[in-house]
Amino acid sequence: MKIPMSSLSWFLSSYCSVLAFWFGNSRLFYDLIMSLAMKKIAEVKNTEEKEDDSLLDLPDLVLECILERIPPEGLYSMAGVCRSLREKCTSDYLWEKHMKQKWSVVIGPAAYRKWVCYIASQKEIAILESRKRKGNFDFFKNIWLLFKTRSKVDDNSHQLKQGSLVVDSVMALYLSLETGKFWFPAQVYNREVQNGHVGFMLSCYDAEVCYDFHTDTFSARFSAHGGLALEENIEWNRLRKPAIDTPSDLLHVSSCLSDLKPGDHIEIQWRRSKEFPYGWWYGGVGHLESCSGDAAYCQCYINDTVVLEFSQYSPGSRWRRVVIDRKEHREVGNETDGFYGGIRKLHHEEEISKWKSLWPNSTLQ
Ligand SMILES: [Zn+2]
Repeated sequence: MKIPMSSLSWFLSSYCSVLAFWFGNSRLFYDLIMSLAMKKIAEVKNTEEKEDDSLLDLPDLVLECILERIPPEGLYSMAGVCRSLREKCTSDYLWEKHMKQKWSVVIGPAAYRKWVCYIASQKEIAILESRKRKGNFDFFKNIWLLFKTRSKVDDNSHQLKQGSLVVDSVMALYLSLETGKFWFPAQVYNREVQNGHVGFMLSCYDAEVCYDFHTDTFSARFSAHGGLALEENIEWNRLRKPAIDTPSDLLHVSSCLSDLKPGDHIEIQWRRSKEFPYGWWYGGVGHLESCSGDAAYCQCYINDTVVLEFSQYSPGSRWRRVVIDRKEHREVGNETDGFYGGIRKLHHEEEISKWKSLWPNSTLQ
């Protein structure tokens, strides 16, 4: 597929402007890109057979620099132009940058593991279907059609052929996330608080989530009461990838107990009953009742008992404080107050700030 000369000039001028923006502080690099691009345009203009000029005639460096700065929708559209551009525009190298930019906050190792299983199952389905329908790869056909609805490019004549998308490519993962076809494991802060469940304030629960590009929000399915609870319209700031790899039905082994001291920030597993999965709750390490809190005399950091405080609850609330054994702690609690499990100490200011940003306007009962 050849690109008309007028389109090529427009394309180059547009993207050189973009490059100028990005490389405003890197003049030498920008000059190099511009000179190479303008040289190519000059060569093309001096050629009598203009219809033979192609975007692919650009030096590799120039073309790669341009492709690296094209958004996902643009890469998708350009991938439909010809075989050569399809190979370039669907490369993992280009899509990994977009994956990191958009999805790294919520996609962690657990999500990648599920993706591998998902792909394997889809391949099996596709093989079975192909035997019935002689090669019609419906799953990716549907993804492709969904993604196309977002593109402003009229590409009736440039559609990618079905099956040309590598099913286990980074691009396939990106499109599956973007189109909401792939439910992945993540954790949701303040689960269902908007639905009136204020008891979940400053907690983080495992869920299966999927993205809705129409609203730029997520839906989440939680395991609850022996069934599933669904919450919709969850915004980005209420999601994270699981901080550690402990499944929600297993007790996390606390490695920080000997290190806990007043003022530390922690997350602790908690569950209503032993049949339910754990969620993670934000709290802090407090002082023993026998301690005045004066740092000059405080010995709490070497005591066998550790006080954990949850200041989001009002003084007197049964969830305001819990006492654990520094040496023997595994899980403590009862069916009335719930069960407190493994603890992880928060070392990074980023994690602590995230919890503080979710702090309720008033303390809870
Ligand atoms: Zn103390």
